[in-house]
Amino acid sequence: MFFEAILPSHSTTPTLPGSELTNLEKDHAILTLRQTIGPQAASLEDDHLRQFLLANAWNLEGAQRQLQNALLWRAQQGADDFPVATKTNKLPLLVSVRGYEYVEDGHVQSDPRLSEAAVRIINHMGGSCFHKFDKEGHPVLIDRTGHHQMKEIGSDITDEELTNFQLACNEFLHRVLLAEATDRTQHSVTRETVIADCSDMGLWQFHMNGLLKVKLVADHFQAHYPETLHRLFIVNAPSAFLVMWKVIKPWLDKRTLDKVHILGKDYRDVLLKYIDEDALPSYLGGNCTCSHLPGGCAPSVHDGSIPMLEKSSHNLVSENPYNPDIMAQAKADPGLRKVAKRTVASK
Ligand SMILES: [Zn+2]
Repeated sequence: MFFEAILPSHSTTPTLPGSELTNLEKDHAILTLRQTIGPQAASLEDDHLRQFLLANAWNLEGAQRQLQNALLWRAQQGADDFPVATKTNKLPLLVSVRGYEYVEDGHVQSDPRLSEAAVRIINHMGGSCFHKFDKEGHPVLIDRTGHHQMKEIGSDITDEELTNFQLACNEFLHRVLLAEATDRTQHSVTRETVIADCSDMGLWQFHMNGLLKVKLVADHFQAHYPETLHRLFIVNAPSAFLVMWKVIKPWLDKRTLDKVHILGKDYRDVLLKYIDEDALPSYLGGNCTCSHLPGGCAPSVHDGSIPMLEKSSHNLVSENPYNPDIMAQAKADPGLRKVAKRTVASK
């Protein structure tokens, strides 16, 4: 959900805005952060360190604290061992995808390898789809925000289940889609663009338990995956959204608000400024229909375009999104954790 992408961390008081630093000073800050973290930073890319500095307005102490907390959290969650779906391993998708090379087009559907929790969560979600790239090469997530079942998300999913599901989705974004975006553009791509489609949103979604659960999980993710939002377009926002927006807005910082475009019904020209016509679904004003798959560009189990997932005896009770045997296999098999061979040509 888009909430995860936009909520600010509660890290530090900014001391020095990045715009006041020269590139040399920024490079020096990255190097200093790397040296401060020590061996744990050896496998981290400079751009990863940069995200933590950006999130802390280039305050080294704050970035160090946030990064150390993130590394500890990742170790506690076993994040590095989480499986991700790729074209090669053909694990079931936790979010629908369209238009990538490192994972086949597909949609969320019943699968014996999913846990029982994943089936429940996917059925309560409105339907999200990673759909191609924007003009600058960021993967675009279309979130069917208006279809999220907030009451059920609040009452029928535990914090751990939602956290682990979102962790798996974030790892999929980073290890598969952002990896492809980076190879495709030949420069580091560390952010996504999000279109939150509020069609069909109603006051029935303004369910405090659900919102608080989403906020709890969002706080985790903004702290541990900072600076991953490039732009957020909120389209088809109804009046009910304005009620929700009043609750959400105070949680956001100015820099985050600058990335957010609230567009109501007049969104087409703005979206086309940032996303090519062929990469934008026709129902959002572009040319794409993704007619080769059920549900078109952004399938949802709540508009009947794809069926609700059915639980079977194979979907085992677990706080993780995949069954325990898949989680165990992923620890030993790198092919379940990353793209087998990064070969996409630059464009
Ligand atoms: Zn499409």
